[in-house]
Amino acid sequence: MVAKRTRRVRAQRTRLDSVGEEETEEDAVHLSGRSFHLCRSEVRSEREHVTVASSKIIMICGHCGNTTAFTVAAEGFRPTTIDANGAETTAWTTWRVLLCSTCSQPTLERDVQTVRGGPDGARPPRGASPELLYPVAQTLGAVLPSPIGRMYLETLRVEKRSPRACAVMAGLTLEAVCQHEHAKGSSLSERLNHLVASERIPKTLAEMAHHLRQLRNIGAHVTQEDILPEDVPVIIDFVEAILEYLYVAPAKIRAVQERLRKLDDAQSPSKKGQGGTG
Ligand SMILES: [Zn+2]
Repeated sequence: MVAKRTRRVRAQRTRLDSVGEEETEEDAVHLSGRSFHLCRSEVRSEREHVTVASSKIIMICGHCGNTTAFTVAAEGFRPTTIDANGAETTAWTTWRVLLCSTCSQPTLERDVQTVRGGPDGARPPRGASPELLYPVAQTLGAVLPSPIGRMYLETLRVEKRSPRACAVMAGLTLEAVCQHEHAKGSSLSERLNHLVASERIPKTLAEMAHHLRQLRNIGAHVTQEDILPEDVPVIIDFVEAILEYLYVAPAKIRAVQERLRKLDDAQSPSKKGQGGTG
């Protein structure tokens, strides 16, 4: 279920990120078929480069779960310039291999940014939310506030090994959410109720959270009851539903808004030149 959900998240991101590129591929097909039927855009140039860079980046590591510095070990990029309505825009696709300074494990990301002008212009710096390609299973963790991301990654790490530990870690993830949201109350139950009362989470998610809390209580105490392997998918589903609602969906919305704003900025001179026909 985790892998399925992660794949879906990734697929959505890829679709959003590759809008400009799909147009290019379509045009390339036309060119190779010698029909030269260029739609509304004309492919001007396409180059590929590989460079080695050394700038530092701070983010959550999908391997060790720490918020830490990353070094850019290698970088490859490809500018694709489109001439739409007489105005050049360039989609810069950059692939980066980043190394975690804590655990030395590699992360691969893909960063697509569209700017006004041709491929000879300056390549834009690293964007606000590059797509994480590797490690795949921890994609969700990378967009979560720390320490929520760290708790969530630890939940995944024990998912296959110990149902009990998974329930306890899921409970700690909830605790981290409540702390991040400044939820009031002397117990987790009260803090979750405060999240509902303050309209931060809807009632259905609150029910999920309370079930998680009950499973956490079973997992954290020596009782006749036990957390069973079949409880684990439910625990993971509930945790992810809550995290998606609170952090992942808003991050996706921000990314799309930013992308639309940049596209709009890149195309605005041609609009002005043509009396705003767009
Ligand atoms: Zn690491």
